[in-house]
Amino acid sequence: MPAINRRPSATVDIGGIRVGSSAPVVVQSMTNTDTADIESSVQQIAALARAGSELVRVTVNNDAAAKALPYIVEGIRAKGWNTPIVGDFHYNGHQLLTRYPACAEALAKYRINPGNCSIGRKDDDNFRTMVEVAVKHQKPVRIGVNWGSLDQALLTKMMDENSKSAQPREARDVMMEAMVVSAVDNAAAAERYGLRRDQIILSAKVSGVRDLVDVYTELAKRCDHALHLGLTEAGMGMKGVVASTAGLSPLLLAGIGDTIRVSLTPTPGGDRSEEVRCAQQILQSLAIRSFMPQVTSCPGCGRTTSTYFQELAERVQTYLVESMPEWKQQYPGVEEMKLAVMGCIVNGPGESKHANIGISLPGTFEEPKAPVYIDGKLAMTLKGERIVEEFQVILNDYVVSHYGGGPAPIHVHTGGVAGTPDTPNTVAADAVVDKELVPAPSTGAVIEPPVFAVLP
Ligand code: SF4
Repeated sequence: MPAINRRPSATVDIGGIRVGSSAPVVVQSMTNTDTADIESSVQQIAALARAGSELVRVTVNNDAAAKALPYIVEGIRAKGWNTPIVGDFHYNGHQLLTRYPACAEALAKYRINPGNCSIGRKDDDNFRTMVEVAVKHQKPVRIGVNWGSLDQALLTKMMDENSKSAQPREARDVMMEAMVVSAVDNAAAAERYGLRRDQIILSAKVSGVRDLVDVYTELAKRCDHALHLGLTEAGMGMKGVVASTAGLSPLLLAGIGDTIRVSLTPTPGGDRSEEVRCAQQILQSLAIRSFMPQVTSCPGCGRTTSTYFQELAERVQTYLVESMPEWKQQYPGVEEMKLAVMGCIVNGPGESKHANIGISLPGTFEEPKAPVYIDGKLAMTLKGERIVEEFQVILNDYVVSHYGGGPAPIHVHTGGVAGTPDTPNTVAADAVVDKELVPAPSTGAVIEPPVFAVLP
């Protein structure tokens, strides 16, 4: 896959995480807990970090939140996470950052919304105060313009000028231009007030996909600051996922964007970490970064006789998500692994041969067995009631033997989705294992098919 030419940008160090064109595109997220609730915030930040969020932003909206911040950072570190915590400030950020220096010091970066503390307001030097605190503590900032809170003084001025021009532009175009001007002008002001270019990240978020592409394409041309990319208020469920993907993908493929956040609205009580997994999947689908093994599964059709195939695909996917935090530490490179879970033999073997491990379940009128391919070769055929568990053992063995450098264990994971203490991950006595030998791709050596414990 050809590499994407990233737009050159200054690289910003955020508590050890580098954001800019000399670093990989960073995934970040934001909590939705009450920041003053230290325990809940620590729990959610830890969950986001475990899901792979490399930066986590929290709102710092009042005195209680600012007071809680140092304890939240302490709590996160006590749990073993070094994830930098970013503070999101709006109307009173200048007061909170000066009133609570421990909060200013504990944060790794400040997000400043110029629409709420703009240099455009002559009687308001809140922006300058926040930048001066950042300079004092040597913290980077994100100047985050949002169309929902765009600097009204700037917008009004530009709209007036446009209406008086000989060839007035569409109001939408003027608004997009105002967002770019707000971001670039405030970045220049931040530099005048003492921040270096490599301490400033810019964003210009809108909620329309085409607006997003247009505004970032223009912003990217007008500056060399690192850019934080995200579709604001993307929405809930499939709408949010699709809109974010549609908006971010053309920009990322054009090399625009140094860190991304997917702003999904969670369902009540839903998992906030979904936004992290969605951001990762966007980057991985575009072959920009790898985060977890990818499962290729067919959509199924009239040839699939039951939901068994969908269940296998879902259980494998869930198992991968649950296993990755540990696998990432123990088995470097496992995120590059490719799996195929196919519904019948029409495309099953072909797709399986392109994966590290592939399985084709039997379709209608097909012999009730599931051939398993390992590194392009038919390695074994599974049948019976425990194909899911057996496939999981094969998966575990492959991970350990190919990414861990050690011998494949017979019994790796007895909990989780596919295996339970009552149904341990061992291959049943009636599993059919083809005797074909499998050539190891990297060494040319010949390895035996995995050895399984047989259930009594
Ligand atoms: S692989 Fe088989 S089951 Fe899956 S979509 Fe193709 S024909 Fe249908």
